[in-house]
Amino acid sequence: MSAHTSAATATACADSADPACGAPLPVLGRDVTVPLVTGGEVTYAALDYAASAPALQRVWDDVAAYAPYYGSVHRGAGYLSQLSTDLFENSRKAVAEFLDCREGDQVVFTRSTTDSLNLLAQAVPAGCEVFVFETEHHASLLPWRDARVTYLNAPRTPDEAVATLERALADRDPYGPALVCVTGASNVTGELWPVRELAAAAHAHGARIVLDAAQLAPHHPVSVRDLDVDWVAFSGHKLYAPFGSGVLAGRADWLTEAEPYLAGGGASRKVARRADGGVDVEWHESAARHEAGSPNVIGVYSIASACKALTEAGFDSLVAREQHLIRKVREGLAAVPEVKVLSLFGDDAPRVGVISFVVEGWNSSHFAAALSAEYGIGVRDGLFCAHPLVRTLLGSDPQQQGECGAPEAAPGEKSLNAIRVSFGAGT
Ligand code: PLP
Repeated sequence: MSAHTSAATATACADSADPACGAPLPVLGRDVTVPLVTGGEVTYAALDYAASAPALQRVWDDVAAYAPYYGSVHRGAGYLSQLSTDLFENSRKAVAEFLDCREGDQVVFTRSTTDSLNLLAQAVPAGCEVFVFETEHHASLLPWRDARVTYLNAPRTPDEAVATLERALADRDPYGPALVCVTGASNVTGELWPVRELAAAAHAHGARIVLDAAQLAPHHPVSVRDLDVDWVAFSGHKLYAPFGSGVLAGRADWLTEAEPYLAGGGASRKVARRADGGVDVEWHESAARHEAGSPNVIGVYSIASACKALTEAGFDSLVAREQHLIRKVREGLAAVPEVKVLSLFGDDAPRVGVISFVVEGWNSSHFAAALSAEYGIGVRDGLFCAHPLVRTLLGSDPQQQGECGAPEAAPGEKSLNAIRVSFGAGT
């Protein structure tokens, strides 16, 4: 098991009075009240962090303090423009520090994890083979449209995941480029994947690896260096920075050799008319190559602010508190005989605060709607953009089609989707 994996089990605090449990980080929306169908109002319980986490108060304050100084990035000689450019580039450094990047790694700002993985998918060298477990979120499963993709069957233990990957890589052409894409923490079960071991397996076979840290980064420190992954992708809005930004960080070579993700100003260093009437372009070799157009300075700054806030709060106490909450929620669910918690790696697997379940006799969508309407509890229902995984866990046909988040069963019928409760540093 990876060191970051075992950290998740080691540090749960005894109860919320235990000083090691610390306090939740202040987030927006803590005092929001919502109407109930039964009449009256109740304080909203935000338990859908895995979809989008509330903004940290600190992120909001930092953005508000910057707002009067807002200016165009990389595109102005004025004071505010220069200040915004500095802030933007310093945010890149802050993210590199947060991810413990290597010398020479690039931090590219994107819109989201989905955007980051699509950017990498279009940057992989020609003929690249891609290996991805069927258990992945669609953002990791689907972007590899121009590559030769091998979908790996769902493993039932972390060791089996490594063995499955080893077997698949053993059969590949060892001289061609290859990429493994794996999630750090499942958005369905919250279970941690053996990232370091998968990275070692990938590298032993001459492949590279990208870590989908959308669900891992908000809950655990992610060290590119320690995990020895080639790239990491994550989203600001799941890391308490809800302003439409994301990150792809890691090795520069494939990114620098690739065509720009978007063509336009900012990505181009020189553009000139040719004698034959066409246009010559020289693209940047830095991260700017993939950041054409005016960048989302607020989104980028908010990610940097969230990274700093989490680091300053300290992941030890955040993990301790979260592990305590996970234990309480799982104990509560275990006490209800009709509830079945979904798990790939088993009850004892290390995990983050993401728990999916079904309730016998209930349609999951109706159950989730009732939690909202009758109790003011916000959860998610559906297939969580990981259709093959959820279907495997529910024992339904993995090839069955269904819409992301759509209710599928009539009242009274067995549900084909699940309910997900998720929480984090603000809970
Ligand atoms: N990867 C995982 C594991 C996720 O949980 C999600 C979103 O839920 C994504 C990728 C996609 O993130 P985004 O929607 O921010 O692109």
